[in-house]
Amino acid sequence: MKMETDQTHDPSARSLVESANVAGCDFPIQNLPFGAFSNEAQACPRLCVAIGDCVFDLNAAAELGLLGDEEEIIAAVCGEPCLNSLMGLGSRRWRTLRHILFTLLGERSPHREAAASCLLRQRDVTMVLPVAIGDYTDFYASVHHAANVGALFRPDHPLLPNYKWVPIAYHGRASSIVLSGRAVRRPWGQSKTAPDDAPQYAPCRRLDYELEMGALVGVGNELGEAIPIACAAEHIFGLCLVNDWSARDVQAWEYQPLGPFLSKNFATTLSPWIVTAEALAPFRVAPAPRPAGDPKPLPHLADAQDQQRGAFDIIVEVFLQSAAMRAAGSAPHRISRGNVRDLYWTFAQMLAHHSSNGCNLRPGDLLASGTISGPAATARGCLLELTRGGSEQILLPSGEQRSFLEDGDEVRIRAYCERAGAARIGFGECVGTVTAARN
Ligand code: CA
Repeated sequence: MKMETDQTHDPSARSLVESANVAGCDFPIQNLPFGAFSNEAQACPRLCVAIGDCVFDLNAAAELGLLGDEEEIIAAVCGEPCLNSLMGLGSRRWRTLRHILFTLLGERSPHREAAASCLLRQRDVTMVLPVAIGDYTDFYASVHHAANVGALFRPDHPLLPNYKWVPIAYHGRASSIVLSGRAVRRPWGQSKTAPDDAPQYAPCRRLDYELEMGALVGVGNELGEAIPIACAAEHIFGLCLVNDWSARDVQAWEYQPLGPFLSKNFATTLSPWIVTAEALAPFRVAPAPRPAGDPKPLPHLADAQDQQRGAFDIIVEVFLQSAAMRAAGSAPHRISRGNVRDLYWTFAQMLAHHSSNGCNLRPGDLLASGTISGPAATARGCLLELTRGGSEQILLPSGEQRSFLEDGDEVRIRAYCERAGAARIGFGECVGTVTAARN
């Protein structure tokens, strides 16, 4: 991952798309996140980048010869219906494409009219999943989340002894990954309401969200080879928002001895935009310092540059809106606010660990962070933590209370990066509404 900034990060740069120059816009010219869309004219998905309130059609740009001819391979992969081939090209060509797009969509674009002909309003297109995700792994990288959840189940030993040595994860399910906006049906599952009751199969009663950040793998590795920690960041194409919907009652009954299964794999929602590692360069920071006395990472997870700049300063927020709030026209209510930099493990450490046994990663694989919680009570990334296992309630502006999600509740995740001397960039939104369990 390139950690230096260049002219594409210049906060004074402006776009030919006026809406991209408005303060507070998620998609200024310094961002250029990748997605895919379809519309009435284009049934087959087409790759695009977001710029202001528009999408820039990469397929159309390639056909017009706007993507440069010294790198024909770049134009070729931009004509494909998903990002995997582009992701597999590697960081040098990602950078080349970023520079081409920055010039094309800039205020002084040399191809102003041709570039403008490739723009469509976001409101006129339907976003689709831009990546064919072969494998999905969900980590558990927030020590605050692990400690908060552990305290509910094991008050005397909240953190298991391996936590500070091994980036813990489980293999998730790629087939049930859906794009933001798609409804999430309350799952059925096996659970026990009280320790002495018999288990029963019923609609989930303790439905939860999990606020996460996902890293999309670019170039992978051969089976049997490992990605060294010093190179791991170069293998990450970009980040997107993830909601790892969780059935807590099902999870509590099934998770031992092999970890979560049906409590997690009924739906995972992704935001439509992948913010590239390049765009995030100004927001790379040192990870939150490990408390004194914590073990140092083993050599295959330790890298000086990763410890200096391997984390991301990204503010993440969760909003809840009930059906009653929606009907009354009341805005989504923010229920938490955290920061990705508070993770205990960096994405480079997660990726290096994942491949450290020779497991092969492939372009388009998704590595999610696990629930992002911070040290503050307002930075807890799921209801299980916010309501202490359902024993407390969140009060909504409508007067309603929540310990877990009700049918009709909409969960909206937002994230953005902001600091002096850099242009603010955003991730857009990751939205899902809970619908009733099937009859
Ligand atoms: Ca999770």
